[in-house]
Amino acid sequence: MRNSIVASNTVTLTNDLDNMKTASSRDDMRTESRRRNLLILIFHHLMEAGYVDAASALEQDTNVCFRRFEVCDNIDLDTVLMEYESYYFIKFQRYPKLTKKLPEPVESRHARSCGKKRVPCTGVQPLPRINSSHRPPSRGGVKKTEPKMVVKDASKAVGENGGRSSPPEPTEFGLNVSPIIRNGAGEGQMKKGQLIDCRGLIQDASNSLSEPMEPLLKPLSAFIGMNSEMRDLAAVISRDIYLQNPAVRWDDIIGLQAAKRLVKEAVVYPIKYPQLFTGILSPWKGLLLYGPPGTGKTLLAKAVATECNTTFFNISASSIVSKWRGDSEKLVRVLFELARYHAPSTIFLDELESVMSQRGTGGGGEHEGSRRMKTELLVQMDGLAQSDDLVFVLAASNLPWELDHAMLRRLEKRIMVGLPSGNARQAMVSHWLPPLSCTGGVELRTELAYEMIAQATEGYSGSDIRLVCKEAAMRPVRKIFDALESHQQGSCNMPVIHLETVTTDDFLEVIAHTKPSARNLIDKYTAWETQYESV
Ligand code: ADP
Repeated sequence: MRNSIVASNTVTLTNDLDNMKTASSRDDMRTESRRRNLLILIFHHLMEAGYVDAASALEQDTNVCFRRFEVCDNIDLDTVLMEYESYYFIKFQRYPKLTKKLPEPVESRHARSCGKKRVPCTGVQPLPRINSSHRPPSRGGVKKTEPKMVVKDASKAVGENGGRSSPPEPTEFGLNVSPIIRNGAGEGQMKKGQLIDCRGLIQDASNSLSEPMEPLLKPLSAFIGMNSEMRDLAAVISRDIYLQNPAVRWDDIIGLQAAKRLVKEAVVYPIKYPQLFTGILSPWKGLLLYGPPGTGKTLLAKAVATECNTTFFNISASSIVSKWRGDSEKLVRVLFELARYHAPSTIFLDELESVMSQRGTGGGGEHEGSRRMKTELLVQMDGLAQSDDLVFVLAASNLPWELDHAMLRRLEKRIMVGLPSGNARQAMVSHWLPPLSCTGGVELRTELAYEMIAQATEGYSGSDIRLVCKEAAMRPVRKIFDALESHQQGSCNMPVIHLETVTTDDFLEVIAHTKPSARNLIDKYTAWETQYESV
């Protein structure tokens, strides 16, 4: 009897074990299949969006030929994500947070403040590059229907707890949704079979995200109509596109109210309020910022890149000439084509005088390639003027009198970015040397007569003033170097650092030894402004 009980228990145990094994192997298979499906969806998404190189790299990395699989009708990554967002919105009355920005590593921030572009994302290994000239295939024959969600009888699913479902009703797509939905008109219960198109809501939600989105560049592989040489040039120019915004806000620029207003009017508002800028009010196509060096012209351009949602091409004109002497004109052509491709775009041409000095000057020794490039730039600017493309040229020059007159005509707006006024100088000094600041854990105190300093710095540019502030702040730091050096030889513990206060006398002494860089040229700028100003 006892034996038979033991035997029966053993059989039950074996059956249970078998069942568990089968269930676990079924789970494994589902997980495996989900993983494979995810990769196939990613592959198809990349191909559809034109990221052909990345798709090929994915195939190489996984060693799977994804081209052998097709994604079923009405399924793609975008739709899956959109439906998840809709589901979440309906269930929780808010959108899911799918991604979040990592804190920027210190090196990247430093690199950016040094004016470097394209800080590589840490933690993401670059994909192997595979040359591919073919365009993404369209999913021929597969008719996409717009994603809509059918919510079944809402009343059945209303829970006691104010909208949280108990139990939730399945939707047509197998998603469980709570029936309460918020819309512009207020909350209400859904009627049976009512269609909700959630795309608008999702759009609204992403528009209202507080963080400004960085631009997502369209893939170069879809940049058609180009031979391989042109594609290479396009790749070169693409390196000058700001991918991370330079983080200069309008408020970071001290003074220059008139210049800021004009730049906003010319670049920002036409993109923000296109309906206002039609007919005679059609947007300006070119704007020149001129003035002494170090007065904030580049800063204004960076604010445009930060505050406008346009693709920003930061082109140093001198680098076009020096690197591409022979091919500069092709580079200019590709630059404008690329700007149209990524429109709305802003092309910032810094140091314009180095490419667009008056033609035929320089004792007849002008390089043929340089002449061709200037002509191409003028042709491209004309092309812009006659088109509706949202491409805008922002140029900066420290030597406007050297500029070609034909180019000047095409830069319809010409704005002087002059030396800072007394108020601006005072604001700059109190910004860079406030009464108390803390850098790297060290406190720096100042006792400065800001108004007096503002008077003493007349004729100094913004960057001169920054330099003087830095030098003044350096004085108390210099005094502790000796103490630090001798201490380090004896012990490994850092002493507590107390810096002396920076005084007005310190500042005035620095000014006495740091002369303004552009004071002598002011008359020349004013004379030129009288003749060519266009604001
Ligand atoms: P440029 O007119 O030669 O293009 P920049 O815009 O590059 O000059 O300015 C050089 C530096 O001077 C800036 O990085 C900034 O630190 C300082 N600076 C100049 N003008 C201003 C300003 N109006 N507001 C704040 N900083 C300024």
